[in-house]
Amino acid sequence: MSYEKMNIEDLKKELKNDPRNPDLHSKLCGLYGECGEGGLALIEQEILAGKTVLESRPSGLGLAITSKCALRCIMCDAWKSSWEIPERTVGEVEQYLPHLKRLYWQGGEVFLSRYFKRLFNKACSNRDLRQEIVTSGLFIDKECAERLAGANLDLIFSIDGFTEKTYEYIRRGARYADLLNNIAMLNGFRNRSGSSRLTTSITVVVMKSNYKELPESLEFARRHGFGHVILTPVDHITTEENIYLHKDIQAGRYLGKIIPEMSVKASHYGITLDNYLPPIVGGEAAGKEPSTAAGREMFCYWPWKFLYIDIGGGVRPHCFCRQEVGNIAENSIEEIWNGEKMQRYREKMLKNDYGDLCSRVCLESPSSGACMGNSW
Ligand code: SF4
Repeated sequence: MSYEKMNIEDLKKELKNDPRNPDLHSKLCGLYGECGEGGLALIEQEILAGKTVLESRPSGLGLAITSKCALRCIMCDAWKSSWEIPERTVGEVEQYLPHLKRLYWQGGEVFLSRYFKRLFNKACSNRDLRQEIVTSGLFIDKECAERLAGANLDLIFSIDGFTEKTYEYIRRGARYADLLNNIAMLNGFRNRSGSSRLTTSITVVVMKSNYKELPESLEFARRHGFGHVILTPVDHITTEENIYLHKDIQAGRYLGKIIPEMSVKASHYGITLDNYLPPIVGGEAAGKEPSTAAGREMFCYWPWKFLYIDIGGGVRPHCFCRQEVGNIAENSIEEIWNGEKMQRYREKMLKNDYGDLCSRVCLESPSSGACMGNSW
């Protein structure tokens, strides 16, 4: 196949079918170079050369900036700790901001961090930087909503129930009516601005109490102007809410039936549906270590592009990754980026050996796999 006439987006699509094709990486590298994206070109070059110690710097960062939160969600541990990103790391992140392409914010509740405004204002001065903020959406006042509506931003609302009863049961301390008011206020600013680059998404942590409400997530998204719905599996908790840990076959069957129906409906509504739910299996298959689905070939860009700093300071290439590669209490971002453990992630990716480093979400869910982290 000739790649000569393909543009960057075509090449990325082609990489999804053929993630390890050196000609595709090489062509992509050339096109990035031609359009002045030297940083992205260098990443492709270093992948092609099989480098594990990189000259390129992260083009994206993920920050769980604070554990502070006024809610007590039943599937979340964050609020049980008391953690704020250290001032020293805030200073280091500021150095990266002018060169980043992607900045992903998470909490706790991002808007309760004392460093949020300082970092957000600086991030907004990089017009090429796409930000994503995961939030309950409950701590947005008018001033904040106006600022968000003017930013190059995807605001990702955590909404884990689509009836008042389920929402308030899971997201303890939250009021459904407040959520609806804040969505309406934000949409008001967005609509008035005309040129707003703000998009809104919904993320749902799927568990026992809410899996039967998933079809309603699309109706909710459509009613309230959300363009994207993301389904992720419940993690961390061991109660019966964890349908994955307890291998809830009934839930697995239900999800197996409704997700394809939801995909059809989502495309009819013009909503992107990202399904990161691994299958729920029983019997012999249940105890298996994760493996790349159907032995498919993958290539994951995240270890060449991104670092995610979690609550407590642990760092991983992406929040889905299973192994930490350092902690910002001990090392700088710069040191972690080319540290021994990051090198190991890259070595293993190059050998298509994902087993002990990667999560089932990446290895087995329909929305991941193939060419991960190459959408930006
Ligand atoms: S495939 Fe592996 S390295 Fe890539 S994001 Fe997923 S868990 Fe991390």
